[in-house]
Amino acid sequence: MRPWNFSAGPSVLPVDVLEQAAREMLDWHGSGMSVMEMSHRGKEFMQIRDEAEQDLRDLLQVPDDFAVLFMQGGAQAQNAIVPMNLLGLAGHNQADYVVSGSWSKKSFKEAQRYGDVRLAASSEASTEINQQTQAGFSWFPTPDTWEVRATSSYVHVCANETIGGVEFNDWPLLSVPLVVDVSSNILSRPIDFSKVDMAYAGAQKNAGPAGLTIVIVRKDLLGGASEYCPSAFNYDLVAKSQSMFNTPPTYPIYMAGLVFKWLKTQGGVAAMEQRNQQKSELLYRYLDSSDFYHNQVEPSVRSRMNIPFLLAKPELDALFLAEAEKAGLLQLKGHKSVGGMRASIYNALPLAAVEALVAFMKDFEAKHG
Ligand SMILES: *Cc1c(COP(=O)(O)O)cnc(C)c1O
Repeated sequence: MRPWNFSAGPSVLPVDVLEQAAREMLDWHGSGMSVMEMSHRGKEFMQIRDEAEQDLRDLLQVPDDFAVLFMQGGAQAQNAIVPMNLLGLAGHNQADYVVSGSWSKKSFKEAQRYGDVRLAASSEASTEINQQTQAGFSWFPTPDTWEVRATSSYVHVCANETIGGVEFNDWPLLSVPLVVDVSSNILSRPIDFSKVDMAYAGAQKNAGPAGLTIVIVRKDLLGGASEYCPSAFNYDLVAKSQSMFNTPPTYPIYMAGLVFKWLKTQGGVAAMEQRNQQKSELLYRYLDSSDFYHNQVEPSVRSRMNIPFLLAKPELDALFLAEAEKAGLLQLKGHKSVGGMRASIYNALPLAAVEALVAFMKDFEAKHG
């Protein structure tokens, strides 16, 4: 059996998908070509692209008045591409950002280079919630505290802070467009497109391999890109060319397309959400029952995808990781900015993986606690 892979990204892919890609590597559907060797404008790849878009639309119930774009540069390129495309919308070059962790802080900093970009709210400082002190970036600023200017072109938030392990999904209905970074929780739960006007994600966490960025954007937000926006990053031009303005990342689109088909066979996003709830609850329940391990995120905004935890004895971190690896549990090391451990439990990781992790953690606690 393959070991269980808890990487935060690039991360685990469904075995079925990897096996199918291996089978089709030399000859895709009798074409005599690998997908990597095909013209992006040929009928074979057009079919792959069209099916990937349609399957993604089906899975996320993307309304018809939204464009689905397949881009490159990852989520961090979007930190610049979003303002270059959207800042001018309301005519004041303004946007407001909610900062709830490392990723949204980066988005905010990058966007400030392009216009009058302000903080709508931040959880960087610690706060009191239910008589508990919550450390910085371990809670989420609720929408009623956001300071949104009526003249802003959009508000930017991160749905799931991959490093801090904070997830928020209860979006308000705002009077300005809401742009959401869903890099690490896309397809793990539904997205409410009656409140979200644009969602974007690097594919490499929960949707496929690195190299593809998925952008889902309401069509009436297109067409207002700044003069200096690179044409290849202009949403309107990318949308008008069916993501073929320049050569798209063909192989990652194919792989993501296989993941979308796999998700459909698994019961779609609703089934995934249920599974992810079950998986994360199992791990949180154990963490909360133990004095040896600790997750510090405010319970109502704990991520279902990325679960950071600390050992009571940090001097055992290296041993924990070495023994975990021996037990077939890979890539549990926490992000260097926060230390400790992190279990990323994306769609492709089944409940059995979390059960194996909890069993290992119990055993480790019994030996060293
Ligand atoms: C990983 C990640 C990013 C950065 O993605 P790149 O594709 O490496 O640029 C941004 N936001 C979130 C929420 C992430 O998890």
